[in-house]
Amino acid sequence: MANHTEAVARRTAGGRALAGRAAIVTGSTSGIGLGIAQALAAEGASVMLNGFGEPAAIQKLVHDVGRRHQVKVVFSGADIGKLDEVQEMVRYAEKALGSVDILVNNAGIQHVDPVERFPAERWDAVLAINLSSNFHAIRAALPQMKQRGWGRIINIASAHGLVASSGKAAYVAAKHGVIGLTKVVALETAETGITCNAICPGWVLTPLVERQIEANAKRDRISLNEAKQHLLAEKQPSKEFATPEQIGALTVFLCSEAAAQIRGAALPVDGGWTAQ
Ligand code: NAD
Repeated sequence: MANHTEAVARRTAGGRALAGRAAIVTGSTSGIGLGIAQALAAEGASVMLNGFGEPAAIQKLVHDVGRRHQVKVVFSGADIGKLDEVQEMVRYAEKALGSVDILVNNAGIQHVDPVERFPAERWDAVLAINLSSNFHAIRAALPQMKQRGWGRIINIASAHGLVASSGKAAYVAAKHGVIGLTKVVALETAETGITCNAICPGWVLTPLVERQIEANAKRDRISLNEAKQHLLAEKQPSKEFATPEQIGALTVFLCSEAAAQIRGAALPVDGGWTAQ
């Protein structure tokens, strides 16, 4: 109740909806994660960015996001495929930002090959980065959320958490696992002010998908533009990409008090992909 009153007070005072909240967004140096980090910062949350990239480019990103939205922004270069680095990232966020009120498990990788040719090492990497990292980060961040009685855990799953495609054994298994984990955490926190949900994007034009478009264009000897259209036509009835901004806006909504009873949901943002 206190949190609801606080949130109303912030809005009526003309404040930003997430002022005073602190967020970790994993894999936020590019693509969807960056869109989510920007959306949370625009609502006043302080943010820990995470991911890989050129140090100078990351330094500029930290500076630009902070300056644009007038919030504190810090960076962790943790490899979220490694348990100790995930734990260290959460501890660092608690120290640098004061708390972790919002945890967005976004970082992910892809590998495409038929099962019998799927390298075992890629299977292990996809499962570690796309699934186990979510468990480790939630496990590390939950106790202090429980102490304060408020939290938002948002796992970026995929349309591939709900349905499958050939060639993506590890990714589909990991994303289905993310939705299962989301439901368990939602049940275990059901009587608290902490919610846990998954967002399931369809195609979003990010470096992760651009690499698949390039591979398809090469395989089918077609232009990049044709490969892009084929990709959409095959799966996404709207024939339009979803955008990082749209995923960011849904994340902000899930952080609101209006979303307090959305628990354990897997919400598609997929142009109708999983309605078929
Ligand atoms: P992206 O490749 O643009 O970004 C991935 C981010 O994760 C980058 O910041 C990268 O540095 C970071 N990252 C990768 N491995 C990491 C590691 N071991 N430790 C820390 N950071 C790491 O990809 P994206 O398309 O923005 O994907 C983001 C999430 O959205 C992923 O979980 C992906 O599965 C999911 N998703 C994407 C799409 C899509 O169409 N793009 C669709 C559905 C779901």
